[in-house]
Amino acid sequence: MAFSSTISSSRIVHSPAALAYQSKPNNNQNNKKIFHCRSFSPLPFISRLSYASRRQKGESLNKHILASVTDISVDKLTEEAHIPKGQMWSVHKFGGTCVGTSQRIKNVGEIIVNDDTERKLIVVSAMSKVTDMMYDLIYKAQSRNDSYLSALDAVFEKHQLTACDLLDGDELAGFLSRLHHDINNLKAMLRAIYIAGHATESFTDFVVGHGELWSAQMLAAVVRKNGIDCKWMDTREVLIVNPTSSNQVDPDFSESEKRLEKWFSQSPSNTIIATGFIASTPDNIPTTLKRDGSDFSAAIMGALLRAHQVTIWTDVDGVYSADPRKVSEAVILRTLSYQEAWEMSYFGANVLHPRTIIPVMRYDIPIVIRNIFNLSAPGTMICRPPVDENEDEQIIDSPVKGFATIDNLALVNVEGTGMAGVPGTANAIFGAVKDVGANVIMISQASSEHSVCFAVPEKEVKAVAEALESKFREALNAGRLSQVAIVPNCSILAAVGQKMASTPGVSATLFNALAKANINIRAIAQGCSEYNITVVLKREDCIRALRAVHSRFYLSRTTIAMGIIGPGLIGATLLDQLRDQAAVLKEDFNIDLRVMGVTGSRTMVLSDTGIDLSTWRELLKEKGEVADLEKFTQLVHGNHFIPNTVLVDCTADSNVASRYHDWLRRGIHVITPNKKANSGPLDQYLKLRSLQRKSYTHYFYEATVGAGLPIISTLRGLLETGDHILRIEGIFSGTLSYLFNSFVGTRSFSEVVAEAKEAGYTEPDPRDDLSGTDVARKVIILARESGLKLELSDLPVRSLVPEPLKACASAEEFMKQLPQFDEELAKQRQEAEDAGEVLRYVGVVDAINKEGRVELRRYKKDHPFAQLSGSDNIIAFTTKRYKEQPLIVRGPGAGAQVTAGGIFSDILRLASYLGAPS
Ligand code: ADP
Ligand code: ASP
Ligand code: MG
Repeated sequence: MAFSSTISSSRIVHSPAALAYQSKPNNNQNNKKIFHCRSFSPLPFISRLSYASRRQKGESLNKHILASVTDISVDKLTEEAHIPKGQMWSVHKFGGTCVGTSQRIKNVGEIIVNDDTERKLIVVSAMSKVTDMMYDLIYKAQSRNDSYLSALDAVFEKHQLTACDLLDGDELAGFLSRLHHDINNLKAMLRAIYIAGHATESFTDFVVGHGELWSAQMLAAVVRKNGIDCKWMDTREVLIVNPTSSNQVDPDFSESEKRLEKWFSQSPSNTIIATGFIASTPDNIPTTLKRDGSDFSAAIMGALLRAHQVTIWTDVDGVYSADPRKVSEAVILRTLSYQEAWEMSYFGANVLHPRTIIPVMRYDIPIVIRNIFNLSAPGTMICRPPVDENEDEQIIDSPVKGFATIDNLALVNVEGTGMAGVPGTANAIFGAVKDVGANVIMISQASSEHSVCFAVPEKEVKAVAEALESKFREALNAGRLSQVAIVPNCSILAAVGQKMASTPGVSATLFNALAKANINIRAIAQGCSEYNITVVLKREDCIRALRAVHSRFYLSRTTIAMGIIGPGLIGATLLDQLRDQAAVLKEDFNIDLRVMGVTGSRTMVLSDTGIDLSTWRELLKEKGEVADLEKFTQLVHGNHFIPNTVLVDCTADSNVASRYHDWLRRGIHVITPNKKANSGPLDQYLKLRSLQRKSYTHYFYEATVGAGLPIISTLRGLLETGDHILRIEGIFSGTLSYLFNSFVGTRSFSEVVAEAKEAGYTEPDPRDDLSGTDVARKVIILARESGLKLELSDLPVRSLVPEPLKACASAEEFMKQLPQFDEELAKQRQEAEDAGEVLRYVGVVDAINKEGRVELRRYKKDHPFAQLSGSDNIIAFTTKRYKEQPLIVRGPGAGAQVTAGGIFSDILRLASYLGAPS
């Protein structure tokens, strides 16, 4: 059995420390008195306690020397002890926040009273912030800063006030007298530290542990006040640990078990309130289980008592799939295996101290994490993997249970061709790291053996680098090693889940999510247990990465931060469509679209969490700040809680379009109906597209041609499946479609234009439609999409604006003069009609001759183009596959609703590219 209640005699006999005590003088009388005093006095304590320890050690040593011969004394000790063990015990641990105020201590008292387990041991932390205050006292005293005195007063007052709130009569008097006594001793001790300008580790541990001593005594008195017989335990008398490094201790279970027996025989009780965090070394020097160690204390106590359960009470509903302060959509995990909990806590989920798992795992004791502020929440159960995983509804299919991060790391990369095949290199590297006492958090070595890379805490990296450089000076000088490189400002992101071991593709999904969020991975490690995949990233990317991977594994919605530029007719319609559809998207498709900003040319409005789309107009009008596109971009994209950002450009502005390249480079997705970028200068267009193809950042512009009609996507589909475009011909302008569909019978062209203008089908100045530039831009977009390298200026465009009217100062003036030029078009129409044909204003991409044009063409009356009505667009793709019968897309190709709808579907396409469920 791992935690034997008998002690291997050889270990004791050969312990040099124990042997050393043998020769020390003994003073039974004095010692006895001090050993039973629960509230140690500091300065005298150190000497008296070690004196006590000598006696005790001597005593046990004698017993064990005997034991090595006859084994009598250990058995005798076991016989003497009466502490029962097993299922009748429940262990609870209350964290600092649980006992942060007198009211909270009362609540904890109630929970203890209401627990009807036969026997209870309650481990308690210091009141919240108290341990920090105690460390601060040390810091101040050793910096010779007099304010340690007032800081100590604050500690005293906090506990005095709390005790006065909670207790009365003898209990209060008793506690306050001990508190006074402790504070006086601390004052003396801090004074000594002040004079020395230095505090040793054991002095520090002794001082900082007082928070637990006080909270445990107060809580015990509160429980007694409820009529329950209850003893408090100074765990320094019971918990024995061996320091292994400055930041770790190893419990000595057998010695602790013996001391627990002894303690219990002297203070038997069914309800014990024990101090968390503090312990003693085998030499009885007070020490601690290090920061956040009370969880560990509880687990050790649970193991010593073989309790049926350890409940860790804290301020959250359980273990979340990621730190809830960083991922607001994190979900509570109902169950975790011991391994998963261990990995999560090791990798920074500070809800649980990493060492908590091992002691309880040995006896299969479940740990339950519960929220003291929400008793109705069931919490997280950490135990052997449950047979029925279905309980975990939220993550039923996810092989990854959760994610955690560690910040403030640096990567060290030792590189050189001389490392390959040389045995002992890794040993030498990590030997040097060990010598400076640095903690290696992860290691990665490629099989080429040319480099070994590992992560250490940032504050230790300088010493590590120096040690490596000195150890490998010769190899570096000889060129066998090329460098010892440091990459500062790194963080670790770990994905944890026992099911990862049996599920292929988990790392692919993880890396894919990171790539899509445009996050660069510095190093990777996956242990053979496969319970954990660890990646090292730039610190500034860490929270975004956490969010991205978290949402990718369906633990939260696909969340996209959006910035809408240009809330004009189309932008406003899009915002309204988003407002109406947002809830459905969230509910049915797990897509969370958050408009973080809206900017016009003069004002903008921004929000950290998302703008309420039912009031965006008022917000922009009443609370808008001066528009600044760079600031807008930074704020929409800078939101680290949302992994993906898209800027939606609803303007027709070439200045805005000129920023796309920069946005894509920064990892911002771009969606737009603005034709300026794709029909602007060819070199800039090519640069944009090549950047888009190189990165995982998306640029969608379906609505630049045919509004909501699937034109670009149809063309892409054809090309990507290996078809060859021969010709694209179409009526691309809703306005011009309307004009020629209505230009029939005896009506003059100017009459039709006037009517269209009246009905709002034209731009305010109809010349913007009639010039054909808009159609020409669409032709260029499709031509370039088909692989032709054309500039707008290469395109012959038939303008319907009579030459003399190009200079007209106003639209009104133009409209007034237009009838004078009706004749030419009337003539063309007549000629067409005489031949059984109609006039249509079309754009053509001629892929065979690598050219394009915009022209007025005649079509037979039975041609699909001749049968158009209203303002419909029609586009015919003639390809190698669709040669006899072109592929035709037809439908309304203009108007705010359909254009906004086209942009909206690009947004949803983006969401599905980013991992939304289909
Ligand atoms: P206590 O004082 O009770 O020991 P801690 O502050 O040590 O409490 O731990 C609880 C905190 O851990 C929570 O308030 C939460 O902010 C943080 N935390 C970090 N990661 C996680 C996680 N994955 N699940 C739950 N809590 C987490
Ligand atoms: N009070 C100690 C600390 O703050 C131990 C604990 O609360 O777990 O580190
Ligand atoms: Mg804690």
